[in-house]
Amino acid sequence: MTAQDQLTVGTAELEELAARLSPGALTTDPDVIDAHSSDEALFCPREGAIALVRATSAEEVQEVMRFATEHRTPVVPQGARSGISGGANGSPGAILLNVSKMKDVVRVNEAERLVTVQPGIINQDLKDHLAPFGLSYPPDPGSVALSSIGGNIATNAGGLCCVKYGVTRDYVRSLKVVLADGTLTTLGPETAKGVAGLDMRHLFIGSEGTLGIVVEVTLRLIPALPDPFTAIATFPDERSGLQTVADFMAIGGEPSLLEFLDGSSLKMLNAYGDFGLDSDAGSMLIMQVDRNPADSEAEMSRFAEVAGRCGALDVAYSDDPTDSAALIAARRMIQPAYEKFAHSHGGGQLLDDVCVPRTAVPEFYDHLKRLQKSSGLEIALVAHAGDGNTHPSVFFDAGDAEEVAMAEEVFAEIMRVGLELGGTITGEHGVGYLKKDWLPHELDEGSRRIQVAVKNALDPLGILNPGKMLDAL
Ligand SMILES: Cc1cc2nc3c(=O)[nH]c(=O)nc-3n(C[C@H](O)[C@H](O)[C@H](O)COP(=O)(O)OP(=O)(O)OC[C@H]3O[C@@H](n4cnc5c(N)ncnc54)[C@H](O)[C@@H]3O)c2cc1C
Repeated sequence: MTAQDQLTVGTAELEELAARLSPGALTTDPDVIDAHSSDEALFCPREGAIALVRATSAEEVQEVMRFATEHRTPVVPQGARSGISGGANGSPGAILLNVSKMKDVVRVNEAERLVTVQPGIINQDLKDHLAPFGLSYPPDPGSVALSSIGGNIATNAGGLCCVKYGVTRDYVRSLKVVLADGTLTTLGPETAKGVAGLDMRHLFIGSEGTLGIVVEVTLRLIPALPDPFTAIATFPDERSGLQTVADFMAIGGEPSLLEFLDGSSLKMLNAYGDFGLDSDAGSMLIMQVDRNPADSEAEMSRFAEVAGRCGALDVAYSDDPTDSAALIAARRMIQPAYEKFAHSHGGGQLLDDVCVPRTAVPEFYDHLKRLQKSSGLEIALVAHAGDGNTHPSVFFDAGDAEEVAMAEEVFAEIMRVGLELGGTITGEHGVGYLKKDWLPHELDEGSRRIQVAVKNALDPLGILNPGKMLDAL
C-alpha cells in the first residue's frame, strides 16, 4: 500500500472506532504510541503510527480490521514486542493493534494433550500453567520469559530445545485468525491428523502479521520434560567447538539442546554477571540430554569423546537440575550482555540469524573471522549450534557514519555467505523490516510470485503490516 492509497483518518474517525471498543482500548496519546512503536531491533523505522489499540477480545480485533478496511488504514499487529527484526514497529498512518492483554488460558484438554490460549500469553507463563498438569509446551526461544505465543506463531519462533523438539510450527494444531476485512476464521482441525483442504494454518505460521491476526490458538502438548543432564565443554578456539558439534551430530548425537558461545560472548557474559564461565576459553558448548539416566550418561560420554578428539580443554557434566538451570539462565543473558558491551562501545549492534547446514558452520565461522579482520569491527557469535542456527552480532559506534555503513555491509555480507553455504537469511527471528531487502535474494522467481499472489488474495488493500517482510518482493 502506498501513502497515496491511504485515506486520511482523523480524530473524528478514530473517535468513532474508540466508541466501538471497550473504554480506554484506543489511545492517540503520542507518548504512549511512541512507547509502543518499536520492538527490540535497532536501525528500523518506527515513526508515524496514529493510534494504539490494546484489544481485549477477538471481537475488538475484528472491529479494528473492519475499520481499517473501510478507511484503508494500515495495521501493525503486536504481541510482546520482543521481536528483533522490526516486525512490530510502527509505520506511517498505522494503527498499532496490540493483543498482549488477551492472555487467558481458555482450556487445558488433558485427555487430548491440548491447550487453547489467547495470543498474548507469555510463553513461560503458559509453561508454568501446564506444569501442574504434568504437560509441557517445548518451544523455548531465548525470549521465553518475554515473548507471546501469538508472536511466537507469527514468527514461527525457534529456540534452544528445537534440536530435539522442533519449532513453534510443530505444536500448532488450530488457529483462530482475523483477516484483513474483519472475518474471523478457524484454520486447522484440533485432531492429530487432518488433510481437508489446503493447509492454511501453516501458511499463517511465520507470516509476521502480514496475512491476519492470531486471536486464539490450540497447541499440542507432550508429557512434562524430564530433568536433563547438562555437559559443558570448553575449547581453545572457536573452530574446535564448532567442529565438535558437526562431528557429534554426524555420529548420531541426540542432544535436547546444543548451544555454542564464542570467546567474545564468554567475555561479554562474564562482564555482565557473575556466571563463573571460563572467559579465557576460545569457545564453549552447552549440551543437554533428557533421556533416562543410563542413556543420558552414555550420551554424555559420547559427547566427551568427540569433544576430546576435537581438542576440548575441559568437559564436565552434571545431573543436578540446579546446575543445568543456572547454565541455561546464563545462556539466556547473552543479549543483555551484548547490550552492555554495545553501550560502552558506541551503542551499535546488528544481530544476524543465519541458519546453515550444521556441517557448514565451521566454514561459516571462518568467513566471520575474515569479515571481522577486514572490517575491524567486533563480531561475537552464539548459535543454536545443533540446528546450524547462528546469531552473529556486529558491534559498532552508532554515532560514526562510516562505522554504521561498514556494520550494515558486514550484516548483509553475513546473509550473503549464509545463502552461499546453502542456508537461509533467517532461521527464527523473521524478516520484519531488517531483512526485507534480502528476501528476494533467497526466494526464486516462482516462490516470489506465489508469495505476492497469496498476500494480494488475503490482503488486497495491503493494510496488514505494510513495509515489512514481503515489501521488497
Ligand atoms: C533476548 C531475546 C532473545 C530472543 N531469542 C529468540 C530465540 O531464541 N528464538 C526466536 O525464535 N526468537 C527469539 N527472539 C525474538 C523474539 O522474541 C521472537 O521473534 C518472538 O516470537 C516475538 O514474540 P512477540 O510476542 O514479542 O512478538 P512481537 O515482537 O510483538 O511481533 C513479532 C512479529 O509478529 C507479529 N505478531 C505479533 N503478534 C501477532 C498476532 N497475534 N497475530 C499476528 N501477528 C502477530 C508482529 O506484527 C511482528 O511482525 C529473542 C528476542 C529477544 C529480545
